[in-house]
Amino acid sequence: MSMRTTCPYCGVGCGLLVSPDGQGGATVKGDPDHPANFGRLCSKGTALGETLGLTDRILSPQIGGKPADWETTLDLVASRFQAAIRDHGPDSVAFYLSGQMLTEDYYAANKLIKGYIGTANVDTNSRLCMASSVAGHKRAFGSDTVPGTYEDLDTADLVVLVGSNLAWCHPVLYQRLVAAKKARGTRIVVVDPRRTATCDSADLHLSLTPGSDAALFNAALVALADRGAVDRSYVAQHVSGFDAALAAARASDPGLTGLAPGDLAQFLDWFTTTDRVVTVYSQGINQSSSGTDKVNAILNCHLATGRIGRPGMGPFSVTGQPNAMGGREVGGLANMLACHLDLENPQHRAAVQGFWASPAMPDQPGLKAVEMFEAVATGRIKALWIIHTNPAVSMPDADAVAAAIKGCDFVVVSDITRTDTTRLADVVLPATAWGEKSGTVTNSDRTISRQRPFLPAPGQARDDWRMIADVAARMGWADAFGWTSAAEVFAEHAALSGIAGHLGRDFDISGLAQADYDALPPTRWPVTAQQQGGRFFGQGGFFTPDGRARMLPISPRLPVAQTARRYPFRLNTGRIRDQWHTMTRTALAPRLTQHIAEPFLEIHPQDAARLGLAPATLARVTSPQGAAILRVAITDRVQPGQVFAPIHWTGDTAPMGRVDALIAPVTDPVSGQPESKAAVVAIAPL
Ligand code: SF4
Repeated sequence: MSMRTTCPYCGVGCGLLVSPDGQGGATVKGDPDHPANFGRLCSKGTALGETLGLTDRILSPQIGGKPADWETTLDLVASRFQAAIRDHGPDSVAFYLSGQMLTEDYYAANKLIKGYIGTANVDTNSRLCMASSVAGHKRAFGSDTVPGTYEDLDTADLVVLVGSNLAWCHPVLYQRLVAAKKARGTRIVVVDPRRTATCDSADLHLSLTPGSDAALFNAALVALADRGAVDRSYVAQHVSGFDAALAAARASDPGLTGLAPGDLAQFLDWFTTTDRVVTVYSQGINQSSSGTDKVNAILNCHLATGRIGRPGMGPFSVTGQPNAMGGREVGGLANMLACHLDLENPQHRAAVQGFWASPAMPDQPGLKAVEMFEAVATGRIKALWIIHTNPAVSMPDADAVAAAIKGCDFVVVSDITRTDTTRLADVVLPATAWGEKSGTVTNSDRTISRQRPFLPAPGQARDDWRMIADVAARMGWADAFGWTSAAEVFAEHAALSGIAGHLGRDFDISGLAQADYDALPPTRWPVTAQQQGGRFFGQGGFFTPDGRARMLPISPRLPVAQTARRYPFRLNTGRIRDQWHTMTRTALAPRLTQHIAEPFLEIHPQDAARLGLAPATLARVTSPQGAAILRVAITDRVQPGQVFAPIHWTGDTAPMGRVDALIAPVTDPVSGQPESKAAVVAIAPL
C-alpha cells in the first residue's frame, strides 16, 4: 500500500506516493493528485528510494565524540545553556536552524528561544536563500506575502525568470512552464549572466552584467510609464510611492546592464505590452548586497501595472528549500516573531507573549546568520545549537565559520549524518530523517503538505520538536512544551495564526487547528474559517497601516567586491541538477552522482587560453577569504571574466571543493542576506 508524503528537497514541494518494501527500502512515485506536481518528479525526487540506507547515520547521542545516553546528554545541553544565560544573559546563546526542518520543529525551536529563553538570536540557513524576498515583500506589502501561485505559470503569456536556473533548481516547476509553453505559446525570458539549462526554452536570454538586475527593472518601470502601460486607477486606489519610484528609475542608467540595445528593446516591448506577466525570481536576485532593492525593483513594476494577485500575473519568489516558507511562517528568523507578526510591534509581541504565556520576550531583532557566526568567533555567543544544517561548508567565509564553531564554548548539533559541522560539536543529537518523521512543509506557493513517516526511527534517533521540548523541560518549562505529538505542535501553531489573522496579518491557518492532521490534504493558505487558498492583492488590500502597497525608489548598486588585478574574475555560485545542499542525502544515490561527479569551474575559452588552462585539468581558485581546487570546464556558457562553481561539495566529498570558503561575508544592509554570487577570485593552473 502506498502512502502520500512530500519530497524533502526543493521549494516546489512535490507530492509523492511511497510504497515501503518492509525491509527499510521503498519505491517512490509522483503523486498524481498533488497540486504542485500532478505526478511529475525530477531526478532527485525519483531517486529518493535509493537514499534510504543507514550509511553514515548518527544513531545515538554523542558527547565529545563518544556515545552517551539521552538523559545524560539532554541534562548536559540544558545545563550548559542555563549556565550561559545565568552568567552572560540570554543574548549569549543562539540557535541556527534550517529550511530542511519541518514546521513543527521550527515552531518548537522559535518558541523556546524567543518565548522562553528570551533572545531573538535565532536564524536559519534560509537567511542565505530568501531573506531579501522577505524584506522586499515586507517593505512593499507590509507583510511577507508571496502573491503568486503555480497556476499563474500555467496561465501567463510571458514568464520572466530572473536569477533562476529553474530547469535545474526547481525542475518540476520548469516542466510545468515548458508544458504551458507547448500548450499555449508562453513566452519565456531568462535574465541571468550565465547561459544555463533554463535558456534552452527561452525566447530571449538577457546575459546582463552581474548584479545589474535593478537597473533592468528600473528601465522596465520607465518603459511602462512612457508607453501608457501603468494602471493609473489601480495605483491611485492601492499604491503609494509611484512618483518617487519612477523618478529614481528615470535617474538610473540602463547601460549598467551591459545588454545589447536590441535585446533590451525586445524585452521592454514584451514586458510593456503583455498583460499576463509573471516575474519569477530566485537566488540570483536574493543572494546580493542589494538583494532587497532588486526585489523591490521587480515588485514596483507589478504594482505599477496592477499585475499582481490576478490569474497569470505577479511577482513570484521561488524558494530554494523544502520548508523555507514554513520557517518564515513560524517566525524562525532573527527579525521575525511568529505567524508573520512583527517582533518590534508591541501589540504583536503582547499577543504572542500572552498566547505562549512566555516569561521573557525580546523586543529587538537578534543576530542574523553572518552576524551570528561573527559573534561566535568573538566569543559573544557561549552556547550554540545548530539544527539540520552544515554551516562549516555552506556559510560564506566557510573556513572562518568552521574555526568559530570549533572555538565556541559549547556547540550542539542535531543532524542525521556526520558532517563537517557535527565533527566540530561538543554534543551531537541523532535526529529522525525524511521517511521517519511526521510534520508539515510549506512550498513556494503557500501550499502546506504533510511529510508522513513510513520507516521506524533507527537507533536512538528522535524527532527535533521532541528534543527541543526535552531540553525546554529540563530548563523548567515542561508545561509549555508538553506536546506528545507533532499534530499537537501543529494545532498550537495554527491556533496562534488565528490571533495573527485577527490582528490583520496575512498568515492565518486557524481553519486547520482542528483538522485531521494525519489525513491533511495539500492546502494553500490562508485557511480561515471563511476562506481557503485565496489570492492576495487582486483587489488591493495590502498589510500596511493604510492598506496601500509601497513602491520604493531604487538606485541600482553593483556587487560590493570589485574585480581588480589581484582578483580579476567574478565568481558566480549555484546548484547543479542532481545534487542537493551539501549532498548528505543525494550523494547516496549512484545515479545522481553520475550526472556530475566532482566540483568544477566553468570558465570562458578566452580566459582559459590566456591562463594556460586545458580542459579537465585542475585550477587553483583563490579569493581574499580562502582557496579551492576545481576541475576546469571550458565553456562559453559564462561570459569572459566570469566563472561559475557549484556549492555542494564538502570536506568529506572534496576537501578543496568547498566553494563557500571563497565567499566574502558581505551582506545586504536590509535583509542580512550574503552576496554569495559575486565573489572576486584569482585563477591559476594547479
Ligand atoms: Fe523534489 Fe523539487 Fe524535484 Fe519536486 S522538483 S521532485 S520537490 S527536488
